[in-house]
Amino acid sequence: MVRVTVWNENLHEKKHEKVAEVYPNGIHNAIADGIRPYGFDVRTATLEQPEHGLTEEVLDATDVLIWWGHMGHNQVEDDIVERVQKRVWQGMGLIVLHSGHFSKIFKRLMGTSCDLKWREIGEKERIWVVDPAHPIAEGLGQYFELEHEEMYGEHFDIPAPDELVLVSWFEGGEVFRSGCTYHRGQGKVFYFRPGHETFPTYYNQDVLKVIANGVKWAAAGRGAKPVYGNAKPLEAVTPHQ
Ligand code: ZN
Repeated sequence: MVRVTVWNENLHEKKHEKVAEVYPNGIHNAIADGIRPYGFDVRTATLEQPEHGLTEEVLDATDVLIWWGHMGHNQVEDDIVERVQKRVWQGMGLIVLHSGHFSKIFKRLMGTSCDLKWREIGEKERIWVVDPAHPIAEGLGQYFELEHEEMYGEHFDIPAPDELVLVSWFEGGEVFRSGCTYHRGQGKVFYFRPGHETFPTYYNQDVLKVIANGVKWAAAGRGAKPVYGNAKPLEAVTPHQ
């Protein structure tokens, strides 16, 4: 069974009434409850817990980590970020959601500013599947729509994705690379755009399907553990020195 940890800073839910109304048990629990029916072993972790709930033990027992953060990016300790990065390099999957584009872990893994254009007027978002053969697109139609979302627009300052699975169009006219995959070390990374905290996006079944597909994709395909450093030849070789 794939072991998933859903991490959320869980700050907006406590500070803003509107967000608490939409996510009374926190964004992390909405996502966890929404993807559990897909058959994952799901736990949650939040910023205020010791080591942000991301101890060595938790990360060692995590196949895929899901990350939601916004106002608390700078409160995430650097040594925890380093620990998460190391686990990604070792093969842990990472799904970064919405405003997680500015999280320390995503910026560190991308190596760019990860900046973008935004507007918060609750406009319609139409998310197009541009790679229907990709496992993350499994079970989706040509597109799906969210009636009210925050707009994220290009240019999105990320490295060119390994694979671009989803592209968003917004009512106001902008477009955005909404579903991007990367490999970092042995780990697979998936950035997925939707999920502004004042909208009920993480109850949407298409959004949950994309996240669940992302978990399956990021957890799959483990080869042998790589071996680094000085290596003895596999065949008889006469050294020339
Ligand atoms: Zn937002």
